[in-house]
Amino acid sequence: MDLSPFQRRRYLSGKTPIEHLFRLSALLGGPQIYVKRDDIMGLSAGGNKTRKLEFLMADAIAQGADTVITCGAVQSNHCRLTLSAAVKEGMRCHLVVEERVKGSYDPHASGNNFLFHLLGVSGITVVPGGTDMKVAMEDVARDLRHQGSKSYIIPGGGSNALGSLGYAACAQEILEQSFDQNTHFDALVCASGSGGTHSGLLAGFHGNHADIPIYGIDVKNPASTQTELINKLTQETCDLLDLPPIPADTVRCNDEYVGPGYSLPTESMVEAVDLLAKTEGILLDPVYTGKAMAGLLGLVRQSVFPKNANVLFLHTGGSPALYAYTPLFYEHWRETETAYEHRAQVM
Ligand SMILES: *Cc1c(COP(=O)(O)O)cnc(C)c1O
Repeated sequence: MDLSPFQRRRYLSGKTPIEHLFRLSALLGGPQIYVKRDDIMGLSAGGNKTRKLEFLMADAIAQGADTVITCGAVQSNHCRLTLSAAVKEGMRCHLVVEERVKGSYDPHASGNNFLFHLLGVSGITVVPGGTDMKVAMEDVARDLRHQGSKSYIIPGGGSNALGSLGYAACAQEILEQSFDQNTHFDALVCASGSGGTHSGLLAGFHGNHADIPIYGIDVKNPASTQTELINKLTQETCDLLDLPPIPADTVRCNDEYVGPGYSLPTESMVEAVDLLAKTEGILLDPVYTGKAMAGLLGLVRQSVFPKNANVLFLHTGGSPALYAYTPLFYEHWRETETAYEHRAQVM
């Protein structure tokens, strides 16, 4: 698989580290858990969208755009990173924000919303949940065209075949590191949302003849919907790369950790975020990686992996969203830890 024919901007300064989580692995009594730190990357605060944007922004520039338009939820990491890439390229960025949970848009909210303003967003259009985001973005593009500006539209999550190449590249990077570090990975666990990450990894392993099962932990859709989405996007990515289709039944989507819905908290997410912070000093996020890690812990408890297996967790970033959820964690500690009040005592 040769990615060199594709134009690419560079926002990563090299490979992101793979770390062995000794304390967590010991606590679980095996398997050995490793983490691919895609939360540590170029552009503001890192995260998986950075890899997709390397290819998408190169295309936007090749097409002579001066503005990028993209969309996401009220605390979208993808919107923050697209905006950040636009700033770096001297382009304007307009966001279309979907209020997926009614009443959840607060113009003065913390987290990514604060960063939209700090990074100098050129406009935010807020639309109700269920809006056709493609149409909403085309409407914005038309308005901007009337003002003499040429826009490039990036789909939600940067998840089209071109964006997914970022994770096909990441799959190659993981295989190189696995060889360098003399560690074979028996499985990979990641969050599966708009799907570019999951699909890109599938295409990338497939293109390198690496038979590493990927467990996608759904954060939004029921497993049947997500499986269909991942199959379709993986196929499109394989087509772009001139690869044969992936074998049937390669796509694994698990919807047991979504809870009441996208971005809505679950007990197991809060526990996973708390556990990783306190055992490894790693910050997860409430919307994606917290639920994905809850999924990994659940699979370990269900003995899906042999005790001597090496399991790689892909940390896709998102920690800025944590700061929009602080009351949830204070409440959890008040309920579960008597020591919490004591620890916080002011002398
Ligand atoms: C967008 C996002 C994901 C999901 O990735 P997709 O490619 O959309 O499936 C996972 N983690 C974080 C932190 C994200 O922002």
